[in-house]
Amino acid sequence: MPDLRELYQEVILDHSKKPRNYRKLEPADRHAEGNNPLCGDRLTLYVRLDGDRIADVGFEGQGCAISKASASLMTDAMKGKTLREVEGLFDAFHGLVTGAPGGDRKALGKLAVFAGVSEFPARVKCAILPWHTLKAALEEKDTVTME
Ligand code: ZN
Repeated sequence: MPDLRELYQEVILDHSKKPRNYRKLEPADRHAEGNNPLCGDRLTLYVRLDGDRIADVGFEGQGCAISKASASLMTDAMKGKTLREVEGLFDAFHGLVTGAPGGDRKALGKLAVFAGVSEFPARVKCAILPWHTLKAALEEKDTVTME
């Protein structure tokens, strides 16, 4: 068994204690709510668009350190990205945390700290929840539930 403490690296702890972009955007062009009932993570994600680019993104909610840190680092990474770049980052992050090959890992930058999550199947949904919620918001769906 890998050591769970190794998962909670400094970057993850910092972002879970002081989440960046933790605010409701008003007005927002898109928003969606994400739930991960297995852990109790819930968040609402707000997106402001500028053409096909993400102009701003914020979130509110409650959850474990992994889900909060993932939302914090993801929202930081998404500002100014085109919808196409968002798709690419989603695929790369999904591969990173599920241990699947593929995607441009280098594009993930700081998000690479979540690589350790792939060793902890119960934590994968926590890490990926904000990403699925962003995708739902962009696809104009109201809610997404991790099952
Ligand atoms: Zn969680």
